[in-house]
Amino acid sequence: MPDAAASADSALVLLSGGQDSAVCLAWALDRYARVETVGFDYGQRHAAELKARRVVRRKMARLAPAWVERLGPDHRLNIRSFGAIGESAMTQERAIEVTDRGLPSTFVPGRNLVFLVYAAALADRRGLGVLVGGMCETDYSGYPDCRRDTLDALQTTLNLGMARDFRIETPLMRLTKAETWGLAKQLGGERLVELIVKDSHTCYLNERTPHDWGGGCGHCPACELRAKGWTEWVAGGRAALTP
Ligand code: ZN
Repeated sequence: MPDAAASADSALVLLSGGQDSAVCLAWALDRYARVETVGFDYGQRHAAELKARRVVRRKMARLAPAWVERLGPDHRLNIRSFGAIGESAMTQERAIEVTDRGLPSTFVPGRNLVFLVYAAALADRRGLGVLVGGMCETDYSGYPDCRRDTLDALQTTLNLGMARDFRIETPLMRLTKAETWGLAKQLGGERLVELIVKDSHTCYLNERTPHDWGGGCGHCPACELRAKGWTEWVAGGRAALTP
């Protein structure tokens, strides 16, 4: 299908293997008739997330009969040349700290913009109409390319530049980390929560020390954010998010 119209009932999920993108995959499987996934190898200094994404995909498809049918192929794109430009703590062995721009040193400039351009090109070829990403501006807004304003502008740009009608969906945009756990419970019950705790990977330092909230070092900014959200969700009674 070289130039088939992109279907609004089909989605491409940006799946990193972390908690947020795992919830996004469940969200998409709950909504769209056809769901494919894409992951980016941009020279991360660790590959734990890329391993996690394979496990998350396989186990999540088993959670519901409809999800098995909806989940299509996985795509992995090598964008290491971009990672080489990014040069930050995510791609090099440098300390995680706040830079003089007020941004964490884990920030790779424009990373989500690049991801979405690649994702849109792939979606165009695959006839997929919706791009789904775990960007969030509630708990942590240090990344300017995660803000909804940025993504609205990019959606317009992609549609002008590719003569398509893509939608960029960001189901976690307005949720706290605690509410993201609640969304997981709403979508797939405790089985999905358990899968995400056990199999998704968020830690920047590639550690898998077990905690109630999952595996990780427990100290890096990603672990601290994940642990804080989990603690708040548990304190709130592990409630499912109300649709
Ligand atoms: Zn960590």
